[in-house]
Amino acid sequence: MLQLIQHAFQFGKNIAVVDRSIPYSFQDLLDKSHQFASYLIQEYGDLTEARVAFIVQPGFDYLVVQWGIWRAGGIAVPLCVTYPFPSLQYVIEDTQAKILVVSPEFDGILAPYRGNPGLRFISTEDFHQQEPKDLPSIKKDRGAMILYTSGTTSLPKGVLSTHANIEAQISTLVDAWQWKSSDYTLSILPLHHVHGIINVNSCALWAGATIEFLPHFDAKRVFEIFLRGNVNVFMAVPTIYFKLIAYYDSLPKSEQFELTEKMKTFRLMVSGSAALPVSVMERWHQISGHYLLERYGMTEIGMAISNPYSGERRAGHIGQPLKGVGVRLCDEQDNKIPFEQPGEIQIKGPNVFKEYWGKPEATAKAFTKDGWFKTGDIAQVENGYFKILGRDSIDIIKSGGYKISALEIEEVLRTHPSIKDCGVVGIPDEEWGEKVVAALVTNSPIDTEVLNQWIREKMPAYKTPRKYLIVEDLPRNAMGKVTKNELKKLF
Ligand code: ATP
Ligand code: MG
Repeated sequence: MLQLIQHAFQFGKNIAVVDRSIPYSFQDLLDKSHQFASYLIQEYGDLTEARVAFIVQPGFDYLVVQWGIWRAGGIAVPLCVTYPFPSLQYVIEDTQAKILVVSPEFDGILAPYRGNPGLRFISTEDFHQQEPKDLPSIKKDRGAMILYTSGTTSLPKGVLSTHANIEAQISTLVDAWQWKSSDYTLSILPLHHVHGIINVNSCALWAGATIEFLPHFDAKRVFEIFLRGNVNVFMAVPTIYFKLIAYYDSLPKSEQFELTEKMKTFRLMVSGSAALPVSVMERWHQISGHYLLERYGMTEIGMAISNPYSGERRAGHIGQPLKGVGVRLCDEQDNKIPFEQPGEIQIKGPNVFKEYWGKPEATAKAFTKDGWFKTGDIAQVENGYFKILGRDSIDIIKSGGYKISALEIEEVLRTHPSIKDCGVVGIPDEEWGEKVVAALVTNSPIDTEVLNQWIREKMPAYKTPRKYLIVEDLPRNAMGKVTKNELKKLF
């Protein structure tokens, strides 16, 4: 039996989920997912290799469907609950899903698929009378899930991971971050990406901890829940910490004090999915007493590099390789280079995905001859800690023979008191190949001439932006990552 499911039997009556104030035990999750798996098998037959797309709000029902698909032997394809129809269609058709599971609130948007002969349409209302059946035994090398990458660099790619891959990703994190059955986490992230699915939900359930769901992020609600005092583990992306800080700063002093006291009792707070600005890390430490644990990972590999649970969490750095994950830095010919030089992060280990769904060429290109996965991210080690310099394709700006890290420039710009946020990109330039430009979100008027002088005192002239653009907001995708190809278009 799958290890995640097997673990749940030992936690029986413990609370696995709190969804709209209703508690559900591990036994409830086991019983309902067993029923759902039985229903899938009855309706469809053998689910080996069958892609089952599902759209359900984050909560108990989501887990019932996800576990049910796994227990029936299918491949789970979670759909984003906020996508417009064309984006849902892209995933459903790209995976050639055989079954589509829909909770009632999404009946409308997915109605075009009703009555489709190639795709069985199932409602989450349909299975509650089902008698439990014997479930198949699932081999670990079977496909478990197809998740789409965030689409930061190009169209999202479907990433097929096996049960063995997912188990490796979960067990590594449970150990590294010391998940315990007494933990209580607040799940606020979307559940069609690794961050929410693996790092938050699956790790919590694996360890016997409790997940409370807040399906739509709302800073006020998050703090209200924090004030209750039972949450002790919290994970989010940098933009969410940014929003929480802004909301905290708007509160009266007495409320701030109370919140700070509550947050100090947390066991762990984590950030990832995009670079955590040093300023956000510092401010969050002031208001919560916690140094955010920043880690690095991808849809294709789960988490690979992490700041330590015990020990120094260094701002602007992602830490060291997690146990069981092979990490090397390479030059453009895939030769291993010393960690102190900038190179591409390459990964090997049981956590690494099987293939890009339906894209054998992309899969082949993503691996070196000796089987290492090429992340496309450039990093180097400084005093024992890995530091991300950016994505080779968009954050490493090739200008006049230099390779310039956009992230490094952004970090400097963010220290300017008038700059709230910024995004740096390279745009084509006849003379330089590419030139550095910056989009700024400001909180007070800024004279770009003066800014130019200011930044030239802080970094070499060749790295400084040639052009500035003041914008209302930076373009971002569903994970809150700046979509730099969109940003480039603004220039
Ligand atoms: P696509 O592959 O479609 O362009 P994506 O790479 O953003 O999208 P994900 O798999 O969700 O899709 O994100 C993985 C990427 O996120 C990594 O390759 C890396 O560039 C970035 N990332 C993750 N964690 C961090 C971090 N702590 N610091 C900087 N970048 C990070
Ligand atoms: Mg990617």
